[in-house]
Amino acid sequence: MNHGLSSYQYYGCRCEICKRANIENTKKYLKQAQIKFASEPSNFKNHGLYGYRIGCRCHICVKEAKKTSSQSYVAGREYFKATGGFKSDKTKHGTSTAYQYGCLCQLCQKWKKDQHVRLRSIAK
Ligand SMILES: [Zn+2]
Ligand SMILES: [Zn+2]
Ligand SMILES: [Zn+2]
Repeated sequence: MNHGLSSYQYYGCRCEICKRANIENTKKYLKQAQIKFASEPSNFKNHGLYGYRIGCRCHICVKEAKKTSSQSYVAGREYFKATGGFKSDKTKHGTSTAYQYGCLCQLCQKWKKDQHVRLRSIAK
C-alpha cells in the first residue's frame, strides 16, 4: 500500500504520512473553494459550516458557525472531559454532538466514518 491521500481516505490509515497528505489536501481544497466562491458567490449552494469556512457570510452559514462554536458546545466538551458523560441525556452516542464532545467510543467512531463517506458524496 502506498501511503498518502488515498490510503487515508479509502483504507483509513492514520500514519503521519497519510495524515499530512490529508491536511494538505484539505487546505488545497478549501483554498480552491474560497477562490471559486469569491469569483462567483451566486453559484454557491453548499451553505452551512462549509460555506462559512470558505468565506460565505449569509445568514445560514453564520448561524451554523455560531451553533458549532456555541457556549453549550464548549461546556459539553468540558463536561465530557471531566466526567466522561454527557451533560444532556438527549445526547446519544454515534451522533455528531457526541463525537464533537470528544467521545471516541465505537458508536461515535462509526459516526465519524460514515460522516466521511457522506462528505465525500456531497463533494462529488
Ligand atoms: Zn499511512
Ligand atoms: Zn452561505
Ligand atoms: Zn460515544
